[in-house]
Amino acid sequence: MNFVNEIFDVFEKRGGTAYLGEPVSVLEHSVQAAREAEKASAAPSLIVAALLHDVGHLIHRLPEDVADRGIDSRHQEVACGWLSQHFGSEVTEPVRLHVAAKRYLCGTDPGYLGRLSPASILSLGLQGGPLIDDEAEEFVRSSYSQQAILLRRWDDLAKIPGLAIPEVRHYRALLESTARRAVV
Ligand code: FE
Repeated sequence: MNFVNEIFDVFEKRGGTAYLGEPVSVLEHSVQAAREAEKASAAPSLIVAALLHDVGHLIHRLPEDVADRGIDSRHQEVACGWLSQHFGSEVTEPVRLHVAAKRYLCGTDPGYLGRLSPASILSLGLQGGPLIDDEAEEFVRSSYSQQAILLRRWDDLAKIPGLAIPEVRHYRALLESTARRAVV
């Protein structure tokens, strides 16, 4: 199976039933995040990153309630590793850094923490808590930190139950044109 079909397969087999404590499924959340990126006229690679930022939750094979059990699944690293087979760093790095971006915003944006969903607050503790001082500065200096912050903002907006959204397969052309040509 080519990689884009494999992505659709993962979303369709597991994304529609995984909720991770949010009011929308991972599939709905992912498409809503991509829509937010499109609304912001983001680069194609960043729309793809938004669509795929939580795919790690669907492939790590841990139970859906791992956070309730006090385990950080490190879904951002899982996704980055899987996606790097076929996508470049302009896709994989914002995905890998979107959890660090959340921790950065919690440490530096007054009020951000108070707007997080309950599931996101629970996972924040497991992910290491807010980034402050040197850690925050180090994050900002890393390549793709700004893209990761944008992605994280869309991530937060992408939790609207019942919102009309396109099928995930609507993104086939975008995924195929963004993936490294030789290996798709
Ligand atoms: Fe997300």
